[in-house]
Amino acid sequence: MEEKRLRIAIQKSGRLSEKSLEIIRSCGIDFNSDSRVLREVASNFPLEFLFVRDDDIPTYVADNVADIGIVGRNELDESGYDLNVVRDLGFASCRLSIAVPGEFEYTGLKCLEGKRIATSYPRILSSVLERNGVSASLVTVAGSVEITPAVGIADCICDLVSTGTTLKMNGLKEVEEIYWTSAVMISRHGFESDGERYGILKRLLLRMDTVNNAKKKKYVLFNLPADRIDEAAAIVGGMKSPTVTPLLDRSWVSVQSVVAEDRFWSVFEDLRVLGAEGILVMPIEKMSD
Ligand code: ATP
Ligand code: ZN
Repeated sequence: MEEKRLRIAIQKSGRLSEKSLEIIRSCGIDFNSDSRVLREVASNFPLEFLFVRDDDIPTYVADNVADIGIVGRNELDESGYDLNVVRDLGFASCRLSIAVPGEFEYTGLKCLEGKRIATSYPRILSSVLERNGVSASLVTVAGSVEITPAVGIADCICDLVSTGTTLKMNGLKEVEEIYWTSAVMISRHGFESDGERYGILKRLLLRMDTVNNAKKKKYVLFNLPADRIDEAAAIVGGMKSPTVTPLLDRSWVSVQSVVAEDRFWSVFEDLRVLGAEGILVMPIEKMSD
């Protein structure tokens, strides 16, 4: 019988591609990514890749062509499909913004009443306009939204912005952020009932979470006067309690613990005050709960 594989849809070529593959690779899954054929099978994990345009990813997942996909939340919401967000992957974050030509006097969403707004995201934009009681006429274009005011087919635009450089280059100014997005992993509702494939997804998620956990933590090792252990334990916290090893000089101990990256500098300073010496900080490659 053919081995069941989890099918994942990934953007073939674009802003999401490299990061998406990097996440899979960081889970120890090997595949040949040079050829970028439409289909690819991992060599050491039951995973099959479909490389497609990002706009099509929600459709593939909804239609059961793929089991999961990595796509911008913007494309998911714009597709209108009711799918499950399995994980927010945090990369490719940007915003949908209203941008207007230099001479346009923007005073708020209300001033867009009756205006022509060009966008690739008519569904998201119209829901925002509707919520704000604004009725405008939307001009849907697939790309190069930023040139539409200059060529006279729109008064302003609503487009994805990350740094704003593209807008400036086209003589537009960003005046209102209306929606925020980043890459998400999606699946169908009810996918849990596919025992075998869902089981593979759970294995993949466990690996992803393990790698992700590790990224947010540091492994800390230091020497400490033995009579300060309790205070040090209170400072570092750690998964259970820190590991304490006696040194040859019995008045000192060596302490090992795991510290959240965002707490690291305050922990470091407190430990120094306590008399810790030789503080070593190391990255953690993988960490389970
Ligand atoms: P495709 O050929 O697959 O349709 P595309 O041109 O539609 O590609 P990209 O430009 O690669 O798509 O963008 C993919 C996603 O990256 C966007 O849908 C969005 O979620 C995210 N993104 C992050 N920053 C930006 C940005 N500055 N401009 C556009 N998209 C961005
Ligand atoms: Zn696209």
